[in-house]
Amino acid sequence: MTNKKPINVEIKKINRSNIYRHFLKNEALTKQNLVADLQLCLPTVTKNIDELMAEGLIEKSGSQGHTGGRRAVTYSLVRNAKVALGIDITQNHLTFVALDLTGTLITFKRHRIRFEASESYYQYTGKMLKEFIQNAGFRDEQILGVGVGLPALVDADKKSIFYSQIINLSPSTLEELARYIPYPIELYNDANAAAFTETWMNPDMKNAFYLMLSNNIGGSMVINGAVYSGDGQRSGEIGHVTLVPGGKRCYCGQYGCVDCYLAATNLSNLTDGNLQAFFTGLKNGEPLFTRTWDTYLNYLASTVNILRMLLDCNVILGGYVGGYMDAYIDDLRVRAARLNTFTGDADYLKLCSYKNESIAAGAALYFIDAFTNSL
Ligand SMILES: [Zn+2]
Repeated sequence: MTNKKPINVEIKKINRSNIYRHFLKNEALTKQNLVADLQLCLPTVTKNIDELMAEGLIEKSGSQGHTGGRRAVTYSLVRNAKVALGIDITQNHLTFVALDLTGTLITFKRHRIRFEASESYYQYTGKMLKEFIQNAGFRDEQILGVGVGLPALVDADKKSIFYSQIINLSPSTLEELARYIPYPIELYNDANAAAFTETWMNPDMKNAFYLMLSNNIGGSMVINGAVYSGDGQRSGEIGHVTLVPGGKRCYCGQYGCVDCYLAATNLSNLTDGNLQAFFTGLKNGEPLFTRTWDTYLNYLASTVNILRMLLDCNVILGGYVGGYMDAYIDDLRVRAARLNTFTGDADYLKLCSYKNESIAAGAALYFIDAFTNSL
């Protein structure tokens, strides 16, 4: 008797959430569609539609049915009732994205600017973001928040940074950004944000390791569809697993880390930092590029085989190099399969679904996800 009310409240919340999520998956729905698809009674559907319309989250979008007969009104999601913003801060770039409630990219902007932990840099970031928002025509009340992806380790509170050797971020980066960005801000490790984007794009994906092959190597584990952060927010750091004992010196202070051999700069250093030019040269059969790529693929095969042996799940290739892997994935699979004790293929190797801006998008998607879950 005493817990009857909380159960009713809970059921109402579940119904509302299911109805909203059904709109996320369908372009247009009638009340009758919702009754049939979700096994709900008409008064429940009507009440929830009225509420969601009053909040501006859905709208009438047309009608359906035979001419002459009674036509049923269709309703659709107001996709940009709310938007989430994402920022990707790297050594040389500052990227902004805006996503609607379905997670679709509305617009993005990339600035070439060298990172420095200075007042003027954060001020510039705030100014450029304001311009980005104005150009897109967003109202303040539309904006759910700003997710910031960083090449750093971030505490579980999504506020403070506790390890940042690639770019010199201070532990109080959030406060410094907040001075110029008047919206809720959350910080995310870059690879975790990109992995979150992959889980969003592939809702059926259960377990996977996201390997970020950018100018530094990041990694993120996805277990049961959720990013696994570890006990101390340090999981997935494949970049600092020793690949060559006593090998090249890593920026982290150790020797022979995966990062030294798989960073995209191993390739782009041959073409003045232009990775696309490297792959063009490789395609044209440039001998030095061909040799360098052969070595790179062997190190990559060893690394993905380590991941496969430890985790027994798909390995997604992302980051700058991941974006060029389409033409070389079969070659890599052959090399990786040769190293595998148990199987003769490497079908576990997958290309990333989201080639560009996946870090900024992932950082923004956390806000979309939280909003959807709050309904
Ligand atoms: Zn290292």
